[in-house]
Amino acid sequence: MESLKQNILTEGKVLSDSVIKVDAFLNHQVDPVFMQRIGKEFASRFAGSGITKILTLESSGITPAVMTGLALQAPVIFARKRKSLTLNEHLYSTEVYSYTKKEANDISISKDYVDSDDVVLIIDDILANGQAALGMIDLVEQAGATLEGIGVVIEKGFQEGGKMLRERGIRVESLATIASLADGHVTFQSKEAI
Ligand code: 5GP
Repeated sequence: MESLKQNILTEGKVLSDSVIKVDAFLNHQVDPVFMQRIGKEFASRFAGSGITKILTLESSGITPAVMTGLALQAPVIFARKRKSLTLNEHLYSTEVYSYTKKEANDISISKDYVDSDDVVLIIDDILANGQAALGMIDLVEQAGATLEGIGVVIEKGFQEGGKMLRERGIRVESLATIASLADGHVTFQSKEAI
């Protein structure tokens, strides 16, 4: 998605060879008009898939997920993060290691909102090593729902997540794939990863 790549180039801040800050439009300040375009792009890529629920992880996934849900006319569930989860029978829970915070969190969703009739699209902001995605896939599997695919706004193609998920046969759609953040520069993959 060209406009997204332009935003990453003009507003993104490369913090290291592996981390980019996109607080200006995605992770802190949100540009709703632009995010709506992102939602429409995901919706067009997954159109006709019979998606009944969008699943994301609080907090940075919520904006693109809601915009996708608006375009697909599907409810959006955001998994909640807690440091330690007291046993609750009415939740699907799993543990996710956070790339940015370097800590493990339990994430959970209520059993009320996803079940075996659902066809789920997972949406997230950034795909790095794929731990957040694996956690959400685990929740979908616990619910007995069908996973249609994963949409990420930005994929860091030099990290393992995208490859690992695609090798599992999961459809991953990235709106921009970063090939490298070396020397403070963003380089995109010339063709989006299939
Ligand atoms: P993963 O679980 O794929 O390793 O990491 C995914 C999560 O970590 C994303 O949802 C995002 O919040 C955070 N993350 C990973 N890499 C970056 C990055 O380079 N910049 C920012 N801002 N967040 C990142």
